[in-house]
Amino acid sequence: MKEIELMRSFFTRPAGDEDKIVLLLNDLLKKIDSKENGTIIGKKETLDYEKLMRETKFPHGMGNEADVGDFITELYGGVNIWCHPLMQANVVPPATALSIVAAALGARYNENSISDDYGMSAARSEIMAIAMLADLIGYDTTKAGGIFTFGGTGCNLYGARIGIEKADPNAKNTGIRDRIHFFCSDVAHYSIRSAALWTGVGLDNIKTIPSCDNVMDIHLLEEEMERTISEGARIGTIFATMGTTDAFGIDPLKKIVELRDRIQKKIDYRIHVHADAVIGWPYLTFRGDTRIDHLPHMLQEEIREILSSISDLRYADSVGIDFHKTGWAPYLCSAFVIKNREDFTLLQKQKKDMPYLFHGEGYQPGTFTLESSRPNYAQKALANMMLMGKQGYETLIVHLITAADHLREMMDNCSDIELLNRHNPAFVTDFRIYPHTKFDTDGNPLFQKEMCDETEEEFTEKVNSYNQRIAQYMIARAQKEGTAMISYTDNYKTTRNSRTIVALKSYPMSPFIEKEHMDEMLRQIYGAKEWVDSNCGFET
Ligand SMILES: *Cc1c(COP(=O)(O)O)cnc(C)c1O
Repeated sequence: MKEIELMRSFFTRPAGDEDKIVLLLNDLLKKIDSKENGTIIGKKETLDYEKLMRETKFPHGMGNEADVGDFITELYGGVNIWCHPLMQANVVPPATALSIVAAALGARYNENSISDDYGMSAARSEIMAIAMLADLIGYDTTKAGGIFTFGGTGCNLYGARIGIEKADPNAKNTGIRDRIHFFCSDVAHYSIRSAALWTGVGLDNIKTIPSCDNVMDIHLLEEEMERTISEGARIGTIFATMGTTDAFGIDPLKKIVELRDRIQKKIDYRIHVHADAVIGWPYLTFRGDTRIDHLPHMLQEEIREILSSISDLRYADSVGIDFHKTGWAPYLCSAFVIKNREDFTLLQKQKKDMPYLFHGEGYQPGTFTLESSRPNYAQKALANMMLMGKQGYETLIVHLITAADHLREMMDNCSDIELLNRHNPAFVTDFRIYPHTKFDTDGNPLFQKEMCDETEEEFTEKVNSYNQRIAQYMIARAQKEGTAMISYTDNYKTTRNSRTIVALKSYPMSPFIEKEHMDEMLRQIYGAKEWVDSNCGFET
């Protein structure tokens, strides 16, 4: 074969090659997916990455699809299988088949979401997906707007940049003149730190507001905002976390916006409030529905409470939503939704009076987005919203909460496991294991005493490493044998005297989970505890 013919065989022709990609994909998937896989594909090996780096060179000759395909399938050894019911390590979803296909189509036609000239289906998908989300939030869809971007991190960065431009108008041209502060709670996601770093606001200029039970203290926020003004600095974005990653805390958004409105009267610039709802948003689908009526009374009440807090999202100036977390779509798929789309003009690069969003010359988000080239992020989200609807999201969430509730009920009855979020109906369950009993000699829970620093600091440290060991044992075993996988958070809470508390977490995301899987999960947790008890003990 002439070399150019071989090259052509790597591509698909403009027409008549529909099967090529499907066959190739079919072949590779069959090699990777097998019945023997548990929570992990094959085994996770430890790798010498430096050696890998040193020994890998740009290939000289052409390869062939079969060999390179085989090679690629082997790279998947050690990869997690998120749809496995015992894979409960983190808020990572298995993706719906159609959203995976949407991602593949996006690659096949290689659309660029920079402008509709380079991606008509991407443009339509983005506008429709944003419209659906604005509708879900309760924004006025004649004024709202939004774009998809790279993660909740990207959403926070947009919220940060718009907040800077409001606080220090024209900073996009002149650079930031005065000191600007960002505000968020002490359990907000670290990507807000990335936003402070990348915008030039600076890590030292984030005001971290203490939280109580993972909810921002609004009075301390007010004090810090007043202090910022009296010090002559400016108030940049206020970040409200609507569903924290590990404990599902929800900040009092409506009160934050009311506070903002009051404080804004005293200053001559606007203050932007961004809601980081990347985890919490799908609870909005419960609004006005009766699908929870059959649940146990307590659970219903708890869901209604979450719904009531999450409904505040409509008060935020902008909202970050991750489909690649609680939207069951593949990476990357995150929406930044804004109440007033004119705010995007604050980010426009060109001086001329640009048509933002869909005025005049078509759809050209590239005039204000951070990215230049953008993939067709939105279609995956659109596919899932159309496929699942509010009903589907509710069904899945109720199912996961019910499974989580089963685990919690069992743990509540364990003498050595303290359940840390009994009455918070997120599907994540946070817990802490004690070597012998969760109660002190006086019958009171050790955890309460730890939180009030009534135990020795050394004791808390020992319980922390005891829990880490249990998680590490489970993770190591899962990576070898495909068994149940949980994880831990190094800083679930801080005690009154700022001691950190480690918690184990179970984060079920698979639609295939049943109560029996939670029974098995608990058995394996006890198996790990026994291993740690007999091999490490508590004292070392
Ligand atoms: C995961 C997470 C983020 C970051 O989102 P990415 O999509 O990983 O960039 C931001 N905020 C919260 C609350 C998160 O849980």
